[in-house]
Amino acid sequence: MRFTQLLVPTLKDDPADAEVVSHKLLVRAAMIRQVARGIYDYLPLGLRVLRNVEKIVRAELDAAGCQEILMPAVCPAELWQESGRWDRYGKELLRIKDRNERDFCFGPTHEEVVTDIVRKTVRSYRDLPKNLYQIQTKFRDEIRPRFGLMRGREFLMKDGYSFHADRADCEREYRHMYATYERIFERCGLRFRAVEADTGAIGGSMSHEFQVLAESGEDAIVACTACSYAANIEKAELGPIEASSNVPGEKLRSVATPAQRTIDEVSVFLGVPAERFIKTLVFVNDDGKALVALVRGDHQISEAKLKIALGAQWVALADADTVRRITGASVGFAGPVGLDASIVADHALHGIRGAVTGANKDDEHLVGVEHGRDFGTGTTFADLRQAVAGDPCPRCGKGVFEEHRGIEVGQVFYLGTKYSAPLGATFLDAGGQAHPIEMGTYGIGVSRTMAAAVEQNHDADGIIWPLALSPFPVEIVPTSVTDAPVREAAEKLYGDLRANGVEALVDDRDERPGVKFKDADLIGITLRVTVGQKGLAKGSVELRERREKVNHELAVGDAAAHITRLVREAGRGA
Ligand code: ATP
Ligand code: MG
Repeated sequence: MRFTQLLVPTLKDDPADAEVVSHKLLVRAAMIRQVARGIYDYLPLGLRVLRNVEKIVRAELDAAGCQEILMPAVCPAELWQESGRWDRYGKELLRIKDRNERDFCFGPTHEEVVTDIVRKTVRSYRDLPKNLYQIQTKFRDEIRPRFGLMRGREFLMKDGYSFHADRADCEREYRHMYATYERIFERCGLRFRAVEADTGAIGGSMSHEFQVLAESGEDAIVACTACSYAANIEKAELGPIEASSNVPGEKLRSVATPAQRTIDEVSVFLGVPAERFIKTLVFVNDDGKALVALVRGDHQISEAKLKIALGAQWVALADADTVRRITGASVGFAGPVGLDASIVADHALHGIRGAVTGANKDDEHLVGVEHGRDFGTGTTFADLRQAVAGDPCPRCGKGVFEEHRGIEVGQVFYLGTKYSAPLGATFLDAGGQAHPIEMGTYGIGVSRTMAAAVEQNHDADGIIWPLALSPFPVEIVPTSVTDAPVREAAEKLYGDLRANGVEALVDDRDERPGVKFKDADLIGITLRVTVGQKGLAKGSVELRERREKVNHELAVGDAAAHITRLVREAGRGA
């Protein structure tokens, strides 16, 4: 491909609204353009990267025995009503009406639609197992679309679904897909970690996320220093820890804390460290019921764990009116002492003595609070908090947790009969008995993977594409196109590579070398070959890996073969 034919409107400046590197660089390097919030065009270079991710995903899934299908993007409400998600999914579901006022949604995920296919086609155990996938545009009306392709509203996803006669076979396929995902992200050239995860809106009981490790990741994950246990902090299991405040015999008394609401404020005001506080949070669940959750002052609550502890589909922090109704005080002054509400507390508060908490009166806190004496009757204890670095690993008991940031590029779930039961997807066993089909579901954010690759691989000058994803594996930069020998040598290399099945990009613009190099660094094609007068005089061209910034001289006659070998080793080219 010739640069002059391609639409490559690179930009000098970062887009004003871009917060993360991948968003800035993908726009500046002319890969994507924003059309509306969270909705993007893919320009030619960007589309080539997206297709490279797709190709790897498709090749590995096909090799793993999955079958590609394509389901509609616009789905009828009836199917979503059958599963109950029409009401439960909330505002992320883009709901639309057709000309006859019938309800549809733009699919954010396709469990209902695929289960409908299977209930209409699978009859007996002989038709199972099946694993179906698609690569398709999804829409989720995210509350905060941001970070470019990382959290779009419209995005490209690979979603796969498997169907089985029993749980054991479904778990076998889950492990098979887990291994397939490892191969996919390895082939993409990314550093990642598979972690145990919460099951979120998709549901089910067992799940792993595939997290690309990058500072800018939205997810916090913990990994044990001694064993292989790793999990999202929302989900990471925690063993009991010693009470951080254990001051016996302190009398319960109230202190004035005018306008001191947050733990940080009261901690400074009273000169008591945050780990001696009981943080009291009022939530409402899907039934509109209010409940109170307690965690240690320096800990964060995990809503995922709270949902599990309460058996709730959904929880959210209560508004100020609800807080006043439950505690009698405004936000910031809640505490468990004397509170008539259902209370669930984190294990770390078990046995706490000499603690500080809100007094359920405006501008007042209680000090000297003791579990058992002042609160705790009718309180249930559960694992409610997010893990932090330094927490002991509950699995091996030897290591401690280290914290990493990650970008979730994929997730696998064991679903069981969560969708097959309400939608009536059954099969007949050998004895003619009907059973609901066991299901697993497996997603990959194809467009998010492209952004994650940039978050993990860039420098001050631009993107550094892993060879497997690079829009072209190699860019040829003739230092001049008016110098006939230089131009001809570049053309010859281009033709030789092409004959080997390696598609190069030639920067055939009549521009200064500095301009071309700057764009080449920004666009980030993995390999760059500079063809110039000086080198040619010695019979050589210069090869540079984008990541390295050192030039290697290649004899003109060997260049095509050498580059072809590098490209093929990375699984690209014919
Ligand atoms: P998140 O927690 O990031 O909102 P999710 O867990 O809701 O994602 P899944 O339902 O597991 O997402 O979707 C499968 C994959 O699709 C995710 O692993 C992620 O890579 C990708 N994905 C989800 N939401 C978005 C989005 N808004 N923009 C881009 N990719 C997304
Ligand atoms: Mg997910």
